[in-house]
Amino acid sequence: MRIHLVYAHPEPRSLNGSLKDFVVDRLRGAGHEVTISDLYAMRWKASLDAEDFPARDRRDRLDIGCVSRDAYASGTQTADVAEEQRRLLAADVLLLQFPLWWFHMPAILKGWVDRVFAYGFAYGVGEHSDRRWGDRYGDGTFKGKRAMLIVTAGGWAPHYSERGVNGRMEDLLFPIHHGILYYPGFAVLPPFVSYRTGKMDAARYRQTLADLGERLDTLGATAPIPYRAQNDGDYVMPSLVLEPGLSPGRSGLDIHLDGVSESRAAYKDT
Ligand code: FAD
Repeated sequence: MRIHLVYAHPEPRSLNGSLKDFVVDRLRGAGHEVTISDLYAMRWKASLDAEDFPARDRRDRLDIGCVSRDAYASGTQTADVAEEQRRLLAADVLLLQFPLWWFHMPAILKGWVDRVFAYGFAYGVGEHSDRRWGDRYGDGTFKGKRAMLIVTAGGWAPHYSERGVNGRMEDLLFPIHHGILYYPGFAVLPPFVSYRTGKMDAARYRQTLADLGERLDTLGATAPIPYRAQNDGDYVMPSLVLEPGLSPGRSGLDIHLDGVSESRAAYKDT
């Protein structure tokens, strides 16, 4: 398979740096073609702003959605953004690797999403009408591709469990899994999360590599998180509220899963 790794850590000698080298070696060793966007090493520009649209009419108010659409359609995006889009289109699998910072991805990686996931590429795709609300959540540019997060966290696994003080890890990652990856069509695999990184020692590191290696070896076979598709009749148009007969009487993020128990089982303590 062709695998694109987007990696966000500023220090090559970090835990994440070691895990990144392991990921690349393991995947290449298995015969996969791997490309890497090492965002700090690339000095990736993290903010989406006027500089991203060199061809726009500067007299106009900066309407990000409109200029993003026009730049994508006319091929006038900046070269760094166009190259990342090319890599995404070429890949079968996208991996995002990062340390959990303030319960989310580091800003540089969020900036990669803001800039690369352009209008017409990752959103604003497909028919928008009374009958259909675009190609998203199960449809979209990346339909047929897989994605997985590799995350390190200082907190303990129980802190992120069902009743843990930080909230459930799957809830914290929902905006990335569902909002960023599933929205434009990726099938999202359960994440690989390494907890309690401050207590990493040689034995735990060996176990982490063994667990991560297993996940990398099964990238093509692992069942994705069973999010419901927007366009298969589970949601009422045009409100896009879940059909009353599905998950009756319940609310919250889990109602967007078709099969809650299997999905929860994926969040084992690594
Ligand atoms: P490092 O600091 O590089 O290493 C961690 C440990 O692994 C060290 O003990 C190191 O000696 C050891 N190690 C490194 N490489 C190896 C190796 N090859 N073999 C064996 N051991 C090794 N945590 C949360 O849970 N939730 C948060 O919201 C959160 N927010 C944060 C916000 C900020 C701004 C920061 C700086 C940290 C935050 N943290 C949070 C903690 C953060 O998630 C961890 O510090 C991070 O995941 C650790 O990854 P690292 O690559 O930076 O590890």
